[in-house]
Amino acid sequence: MSELTPLTAIGEFALISRLQKGISMRQPGTVLGIGDDAAIIAPTAGTELVMTTDLLVEGIHFDLAFCPLRHLGYKAIAVNVSDVAAMNALPTQLVVALSAGPRFTVEAIEELYAGMRLACEAYNVDLVGGDTTASRGGLTLAITVLGEAPAGEAVRRSGGQPTDLLCVTGDLGGAFLGLQVLEREKQAFLADPETQPELANYEYIVQRQLRPEARLDIVHELRERGIRPTSMIDISDGLASEVLHLCAASSTGARVFTEFLPLANPTLEAAAEFNLDPLTCALNGGEDYELLFTVPVTDHEKLKNHPDITIIGHLTAKEDGANLVTKAGQAVPLQAQGWTSF
Ligand code: ADP
Ligand code: MG
Repeated sequence: MSELTPLTAIGEFALISRLQKGISMRQPGTVLGIGDDAAIIAPTAGTELVMTTDLLVEGIHFDLAFCPLRHLGYKAIAVNVSDVAAMNALPTQLVVALSAGPRFTVEAIEELYAGMRLACEAYNVDLVGGDTTASRGGLTLAITVLGEAPAGEAVRRSGGQPTDLLCVTGDLGGAFLGLQVLEREKQAFLADPETQPELANYEYIVQRQLRPEARLDIVHELRERGIRPTSMIDISDGLASEVLHLCAASSTGARVFTEFLPLANPTLEAAAEFNLDPLTCALNGGEDYELLFTVPVTDHEKLKNHPDITIIGHLTAKEDGANLVTKAGQAVPLQAQGWTSF
């Protein structure tokens, strides 16, 4: 343990220069990265910029008892990139502001940055600056990402039309169940520190929780297939809430068919074990970071058979409301209920 360096042992500038190691620039538009008063960026001609930020606070958004710092670094960037993807844009540069309390070591912050570097590589985005301060409490991370979309191609929540097909990527509910597993193992550990966490059987859902991927691959694929979604949003708070957001912004209703909701086997198995309805996990569990989007019915041919996109329903006239349609054909109003009711 003696090799660990308290943050207080080195100054802010020494920390920044250690963090800067291994950070490389990939984007042609990055003219100047870390080291000056501000970064310099040359936007690509004919593009529009999108910009988004997310604040992650220890104890509110993450629990370091079960979230390794490397994963946290990766996830912090992935969730921001997910917002850029949800605009049908590609990320280009980002800045990281962090404050850490005295219990963090230099090595811990380096671990965090190791995860962030991996994410920067995976999403082809440059870390061009940030800010660093001490804190009296835990760890807080604020990440701001810049992205680009060809002019006029950025997709808003508001462009959906009645009869448009509602599509989701990947599968839903896994991240929420992964969190249930991690919380259970944490409680077991607190009760008896000798217990070893049992995560082997839950690899998929735990990874969905700790290390989600932003669906930039889908942004690329939609472009390749010549599809521009009419509206799009990323699924951070559960499908129900996101469908309601799209409907509100687009002034439409929706019909979502429960039998079409994509659920992975590990999600179904964990739901059974926790006595939870897997549909409720998909609808109201958070942090899946998949994309929800709409396309005109005429794009159906271009989308069908895509292994990672599922058509789960369609938009309707606003007057019809947003409904969940059961296998028996019964329509129930969609509600963005939290987990408090359980
Ligand atoms: P200033 O006093 O102008 O805010 P800083 O000393 O905070 O400058 O930052 C110096 C350089 O280091 C800047 O380029 C800044 O963007 C970068 N930087 C500071 N903190 C971080 C960080 N946590 N991650 C990446 N770059 C950082
Ligand atoms: Mg500063």
